[in-house]
Amino acid sequence: MCCADVVLPVPLPELFTYYVPEDLASVIQPGCRVLVPFGTKRTTMALVIRLHDVPPAGIELKPVLSAIDAQPVVLPGQLRFWQWIASYYLCTLGEVYKAALPAPLKKGKEVRTTGTRRARHQIPEPDLSDLHFPISPLSPAQNTALDAIHAGWQQHPVCLLHGVTSSGKTEIYMHLIEEAIARGEQVLFLLPEIVLTTQLTDRLRAVFGGLLGVYHSKYSDGDREAVWLRQLSARPYPLIVGVRSSIFLPFQRLGLVIIDEEHEHSFKQQEPSPRYHARDAAIMLASQHGARTLLGSATPSFESYYNARLGKYALVRLTERFGQVSLPEVEVVDVAEARHKKQMHGPFSSRLLAAIGEALSSGRQVILFQNRRGYAPTLACPVCGWAPRCPHCSVPLTLHKRVRDVAGGVMKCHYCGFTTVVPDRCPACEGDALRGEGFGTERIEDAIGKHFPEARVARLDLDSTRSRKSYESLIEDFAAHRTDILVGTQMLTKGLDFSDVSLVGILSAETMLNQPDFRAYERSFQLMCQVAGRAGRRDARGLVILQTRSPKLPLISQVISGDYESMYMSEMAERRSFAYPPFVRLVVLYMKHRNEPTVDALAATAAKRLKAVFGNRVLGPEEPAVSRVSSFYIRRLIVKLEQGVNLHQAKDLLGALRSELLSEVNYSSAQIYYDVDPL
Ligand code: ADP
Ligand code: ZN
Ligand code: ZN
Repeated sequence: MCCADVVLPVPLPELFTYYVPEDLASVIQPGCRVLVPFGTKRTTMALVIRLHDVPPAGIELKPVLSAIDAQPVVLPGQLRFWQWIASYYLCTLGEVYKAALPAPLKKGKEVRTTGTRRARHQIPEPDLSDLHFPISPLSPAQNTALDAIHAGWQQHPVCLLHGVTSSGKTEIYMHLIEEAIARGEQVLFLLPEIVLTTQLTDRLRAVFGGLLGVYHSKYSDGDREAVWLRQLSARPYPLIVGVRSSIFLPFQRLGLVIIDEEHEHSFKQQEPSPRYHARDAAIMLASQHGARTLLGSATPSFESYYNARLGKYALVRLTERFGQVSLPEVEVVDVAEARHKKQMHGPFSSRLLAAIGEALSSGRQVILFQNRRGYAPTLACPVCGWAPRCPHCSVPLTLHKRVRDVAGGVMKCHYCGFTTVVPDRCPACEGDALRGEGFGTERIEDAIGKHFPEARVARLDLDSTRSRKSYESLIEDFAAHRTDILVGTQMLTKGLDFSDVSLVGILSAETMLNQPDFRAYERSFQLMCQVAGRAGRRDARGLVILQTRSPKLPLISQVISGDYESMYMSEMAERRSFAYPPFVRLVVLYMKHRNEPTVDALAATAAKRLKAVFGNRVLGPEEPAVSRVSSFYIRRLIVKLEQGVNLHQAKDLLGALRSELLSEVNYSSAQIYYDVDPL
């Protein structure tokens, strides 16, 4: 009897087996979608993973009802990759399937996988035999790096390009892409979410035109489906530029994977499962295809740099900016001292204001970086000190003023989105109105406008860029110098290339450093170097003014000198002595429940069982810094797996433990999941 093992888009660990009626046997292949009966009377769509003739004993099999596709919509290589994701990230194949497939393909509409696409996606066919891409010739330094990358790949399939900001990494990528396309290979170019829009896509499109397919979560379902189907067709795009989910696309002859800004945390999917890291998964994808990988960054992740230093990856450096432009000068302003001397004006030091004035009067642009959105990060009553908190999460509410139709502004929770109007009087003492404390981007935007009423000020943060359009127009306006000052959060740091920016102001180094996270130091360095890197990218040397309350911190001098190496060495010593990544692997077990005693009992049980297996590799249970979100109480257990531990075996044990806990009546209503390599 012919049997089909299928996956259903449900978080159940196992595959389901159906028998294939004779008339369907010639049609159905792995990677095809079929209709199957599921539950009582219900039919549902499923994806065939494999065909075999060993019916499981003791079960009466139900039949596959019909085939949806005549050709697979998922290739065998993809299924193999999905299986790796599921086993590495401790999730089910059903969850991978849900994340991977574009929505229309999950609805089970028939598609034609050969022949022409819908007319609006029709693109003139390029002639691959006669390629002449308008790519700039490389500088001697870039050429040396290009050669070194090729030489590196002879030894290791993965190469890390550590090149300072504006060293011309993107131009090198273009040469590598051209070479791969000329060999008839496909290229996957991965970018962090926000960078992808506008600037970089435009640059690549100017060179590769119709050979380039873009895969982005902010594109419509139809567009994503069209790219997927095109990649299955006889004429797939040779170059895919995309965000993390593009690792799930079908590739027929993948030869090169480029991961730009490889240190970016947005490559990690946080919610929902699969909680994969697109960089790490893409390296596995490339290896399954026998393709090469290039990681690029001015501030590599410790994980990648560590691997490069160990000799697992090749390492190539570019230490100078393109065109002999110097790296920006970083000047530190001691905020405490300035305040003492009455040289602070709200969030701005006199020095920063003077530099802004100078930049503007010489016709240049300014970037102001404050990694907090909203108007004021917290509110409090000036009389009794009462501060509003989210009713559903264990965090204070943030004041937002840029809200239509609400004059006094609203208070918002950045975790669950809860929003409420600001009360006229303090609800606790009824004495006074609440006061916003601290400076978010909205307040910086207001304040700088008062100092420079002539200047055109714009703001780039999550609130001002809800749509792709608004993000693009903010960037375009600034690039075309229709705005003078751009105030923003970490969104500013990501790979943007503006030619007229002569000054970057970092308003407070502390907001990043004071995170309860062992990566806070690494992250602060990366953010500050990246935002500093937006200054002076063309002709003149840029200036960065870095305001801090702790000018003596080693971090500050490392940012001034752009000394990645010394930052890495000092911080790695800490990581080693406290056994943190990259010296160990972390797997975090998250447990969530609406009822606090239940989650505490669950956490205690889980801890006992985990410790029975993993001993003192288990830490906790503990409450995370934000221990309640959207009315769910959160507990976690951290498992540290040192090098040499059999990961496969460890993960099997972890997986079994989770299923066991979920099957117990007391905990069946809890959310229990793992986060592997958490960020
Ligand atoms: P990175 O990716 O390292 O930040 P980019 O590739 O964006 O650097 O290069 C910085 C600037 O220098 C860009 O404006 C780019 O157009 C320019 N540039 C880099 N390499 C070349 C080259 N070989 N010829 C002409 N312009 C270049
Ligand atoms: Zn009060
Ligand atoms: Zn909340």
